[in-house]
Amino acid sequence: MLEVNGWRRRRRDVPLSGYQELCRELAASGPGTFAELDSTGARSVLRRFSDAWFAAAKRRSAGDVSARFPRRRRGLVPVRWYHGTFTLDGRRVRIRTAKGTSALWVRLAREVPYPVEQVRSVTLLCEGGRLFLDVTAEVPVAVYPPGEQRDPGRVAGVDLGIIHPYALAGPDGEGLLVSGRAIRAEHRMHLADTKSRRRAVSRRAPKPGQMGSRRWRQYRRRVRLVEGRHRRRVRQAQHEAARNVISWAVDQRVGVLHVGDPRGVLDLPAGRRHNLRLRQWQIGRLLQVLTDKATLAGISVRLVDERDTSSTCPACRMRVSKPRGRTLSCPHCAFSGHRDLVAAASIATRVPGGGSTTPAAVVLPEVVTHRRAGRHLPGAGRSRRDPRRPAWAARGSVGPRRPAPPPGGESLAQQARIHNTHRKPGER
Ligand SMILES: [Zn+2]
Repeated sequence: MLEVNGWRRRRRDVPLSGYQELCRELAASGPGTFAELDSTGARSVLRRFSDAWFAAAKRRSAGDVSARFPRRRRGLVPVRWYHGTFTLDGRRVRIRTAKGTSALWVRLAREVPYPVEQVRSVTLLCEGGRLFLDVTAEVPVAVYPPGEQRDPGRVAGVDLGIIHPYALAGPDGEGLLVSGRAIRAEHRMHLADTKSRRRAVSRRAPKPGQMGSRRWRQYRRRVRLVEGRHRRRVRQAQHEAARNVISWAVDQRVGVLHVGDPRGVLDLPAGRRHNLRLRQWQIGRLLQVLTDKATLAGISVRLVDERDTSSTCPACRMRVSKPRGRTLSCPHCAFSGHRDLVAAASIATRVPGGGSTTPAAVVLPEVVTHRRAGRHLPGAGRSRRDPRRPAWAARGSVGPRRPAPPPGGESLAQQARIHNTHRKPGER
């Protein structure tokens, strides 16, 4: 594809970019163009190329000169197969390949979590040095027994934040705070770890135009693995946070979530650089994950304007300077409350579209449920020590206490674990 477009460029022809044109070119080229890929797989590569080309064209016409058309060769490209071109059989997937070649069998690490008849497409992709099978399935929306249906009159306000990814204020004075401190700690540990790694290898880094050493390639591979692991950890924690929100909302029989959209307030123009903290927040991801899970649970999500919700007193509606800590105290009246919950309670009264209706009374949460996202992260618990934490930070712990070995007897300490079981002692 890249070569054909290279020739056309040299001949000053218009490059092939549209999906239809590319498919026609593929049909004219005959079988074997994409080696063992069948036509579905080949078309999926064409689709991806075409999408990337048009995305670059759009960005360039919007004035972004740094956007490049796809010209680099790639080792691995995600390829998608639709219903009917693959067979799911427990932990194995059979994918059709070109005529005359044997089919591709993909072995999975675990069962696909959806029934076979619901799976619509599978995508083979590589991320962070790992191969994945991305599965798209049609999933039914939850149905509740009569009397337990979601009540569209019960509205909860959601405030998105960094320390608390989600703060909710529901009806009847119920509230929920999901703490994201573990996610923030993961971001910090990862940043510190990346920096120290980079410092350690900076002397080995190849100069421009120089080929990297084998050690350098190993280092690059390690970086990719660590990056992938970090991304997976954060993503998992974000999903846990959203799941906490939805199960709470289901318990409260909430029918509608009013989510304060901070993107309008932050006024994020595309492509502008912001600080790391803001980028790591990943507002779009938090919104997407929450909306997906809410839709599945039969709860509707509405985006509302969150302007001034965290800096207005809910009792006297006077402006309060943004509090530095977590507590908002009003200097005009004696009101004081949790900043994020106050914001969530104000958001619950807002209407999508921001119509200036008479503001409804703010119901502040009195019973607050606390949940923590990312409990699985190594830095989160005291019992798990993060290997990225410097040794001095872990000082003072001698590990679990064990009884002293009996005199003359065998040690009661755990046996040392020897990993290279494939070698016999003394064997080299
Ligand atoms: Zn006040």
